[in-house]
Amino acid sequence: MKCALVTGGSRGIGKAICIELSTHGYFILINYRSNEKEALDTLEQVRARGADGEIIAFDVADRHQITEVLGGWIEKNQDKEIEVLVNNAGIKDDGLMMWMKDEQWDQVLGTSLNGFFFVTRLVLNNMLLRRYGRIINVVSLSGIKGMAGQVNYSAAKAGVIGSTKALAQEVGRRGITVNAVAPGFIKTDMTEEMNEKELQAHIPVRRFGTADEVAHTVAFLASPRSGYITGEVISVNGGLYT
Ligand code: NAP
Repeated sequence: MKCALVTGGSRGIGKAICIELSTHGYFILINYRSNEKEALDTLEQVRARGADGEIIAFDVADRHQITEVLGGWIEKNQDKEIEVLVNNAGIKDDGLMMWMKDEQWDQVLGTSLNGFFFVTRLVLNNMLLRRYGRIINVVSLSGIKGMAGQVNYSAAKAGVIGSTKALAQEVGRRGITVNAVAPGFIKTDMTEEMNEKELQAHIPVRRFGTADEVAHTVAFLASPRSGYITGEVISVNGGLYT
């Protein structure tokens, strides 16, 4: 059975990606950290579209949990092949660098950058053996241009962009593509406290994006027909570059 693993699939962009990929024939493995209720809601929406899936709780910042929980799932489910991996789980914890605490740095990098490394390394092995895979990393405009107050978040996302390009070169000949999607401002819990009215003046399309619009781009890269696109970063930001 063809399977897609989406980290942070309980809410926001990850939820939309799970729902979108479920319409492309995948069994959806919905990862979350703590919000089981929302993860189950994602599963319900996947099933409502005639597909199936499973929820799986592990903290992507915790390498031991990844080995134990995801590694255990892979061993137990040899009939299911993870063909698509979407590294979406991410957090922000903003503040000026002057006052940024060690934990703010560690947690934000731990989730996005270490999370990418440990989850992908585990899933990659079978993709290499099967000579097929699609890895899509959800990064951010902050990782491309840098954003004041987000030295930790910008570093984490820029790190994932570099890793995307490097890994793409390592695994291209094995039929595996590695790409990144870089959203601008998207309406989710993460941007709930931002003032859209004020910020939209700086966005050429004059609005925040939707999680659906990001999910559509992820599904495009996940398609078997996108096999000649790799090491790429696609922005989904309404034209916001400066
Ligand atoms: P969100 O609404 O806050 O949802 C975050 C998701 O990530 C939740 O499902 C959460 O699980 C999960 N998560 C967080 N830390 C985790 C961990 N350590 N292990 C496993 N799962 C974890 O965020 P979002 O806006 O959808 O963002 C999704 C991705 O897009 C992130 O990588 C973010 O950096 C990126 N992004 C977002 C925007 C934006 O404007 N929203 C812009 C650029 C990039 P629980 O429900 O269990 O907490």
